[in-house]
Amino acid sequence: MTYRVMSYRVMSYRVMSYYNMIHPFSQLFFIHDVDCLHIAFTVGYNDVSFKRYFMEYTPPKEKTMRKIPETMKALVAYGKGDYRLELNYPTPKCGPEDIVIKTEGCGVCAGDLKCRSGAAMFWGDEIQPAYVKPPFIPGHEFLGEIVEVGENVTEYKIGQRVTADQILPCDKCRFCKTGKYWMCQPHAIFGFQEDNNGGMAEYVRYPRTSVLSVVPDEMPFEQAILIEPYGCSKHAVDRANITNEDVVVIAGAGSLGLGMVTYARMKNPAKLIALDLVDYRLEKAKEFGADLVMNPSKEDVVAKVLELTDGYGCDIYIEATGHPDAVIQGLSMIRKLGRFIEFSVFTEPTTVDWSIIGDRKELDLLGAHLSPYCYPFVIEHISKGNLKTEGVVSKLFTIEEWEEAFEYATGKHGDLKVAIKF
Ligand SMILES: [Zn+2]
Ligand SMILES: [Zn+2]
Repeated sequence: MTYRVMSYRVMSYRVMSYYNMIHPFSQLFFIHDVDCLHIAFTVGYNDVSFKRYFMEYTPPKEKTMRKIPETMKALVAYGKGDYRLELNYPTPKCGPEDIVIKTEGCGVCAGDLKCRSGAAMFWGDEIQPAYVKPPFIPGHEFLGEIVEVGENVTEYKIGQRVTADQILPCDKCRFCKTGKYWMCQPHAIFGFQEDNNGGMAEYVRYPRTSVLSVVPDEMPFEQAILIEPYGCSKHAVDRANITNEDVVVIAGAGSLGLGMVTYARMKNPAKLIALDLVDYRLEKAKEFGADLVMNPSKEDVVAKVLELTDGYGCDIYIEATGHPDAVIQGLSMIRKLGRFIEFSVFTEPTTVDWSIIGDRKELDLLGAHLSPYCYPFVIEHISKGNLKTEGVVSKLFTIEEWEEAFEYATGKHGDLKVAIKF
């Protein structure tokens, strides 16, 4: 006995696996109920016997119903300096392996500012290819509540508050395969490419390889928005391998530098010194655990550190300013065989006497990038109050006020971290 397909639309329903061929005169009815789908159909077989079936399909709870609107508010980058607020931008579609969140808010990072102003590291030039793929939605420091999960997602469910590492690992390259996902070769970071949109929109899609962490519901937004930057701070400090005998200098007390100070404090170094050109930030650094703070525009910080260390210099220097002067300063105040950690992104090249590294001091020069495996620790210790956050997020803006948010994120009005909150 053979049957014929009645409708291709029918094929998508599980019921067809039972009756995989249906006669053209068959009828099919779908009746949507609150939480299940009634399917009634009559099947005509080739031997002209008709049978009537009635069955129910209850979808895995909350999994399949699309609850989010078709469009959303989103800040969209169309080109260098061409960022526009769209009020009806399409919401992301949730594939079978994906998760879609309703964004709670998104921090504005120095990288977002550099990208908007057209920096070559994002938009390319004669030397480097473009990294961005417009139109894209910026923002990589965000969190939200899961509103949709793909049918193959088992680990997460609707209603959970989550955030993800800023990098979306490819899961295929040499680095991903050896657990070094933060250096993933294709290096897709949320908020720079159209297939990997960021958090300055009401909804964001997390693809399958996203590195997700659950954020406690009770954690205030002003703390939760620091998970990404503090993750980066932690990784930089971890690279320094601080012991209790080390004199540690952290140059730069912006939100990332402050994250380094509060985390380095947990390592209990012999002395923790913070440097910055802005006194308000130095006060914060002191509050967050620095033993000593100094302003290089007001005193000779190299001489001071040498004096404090019997002329040897600091054991560890972490550069978090992004200014070439801070590199030269660090190479001058670090002791022989010391560890220099470079964290920053620079807008201009640094010129130094490179022979300090080998011939004169035999330094360990280490880079630090992103926040591998850092989120769970950061979430736990922000919650416990071991990582200080008080006052780091200084202003919140709506998405309509995004231009102001970008303006305040420069820090020129005395702000540390600013964020957009939905
Ligand atoms: Zn960032
Ligand atoms: Zn990879």
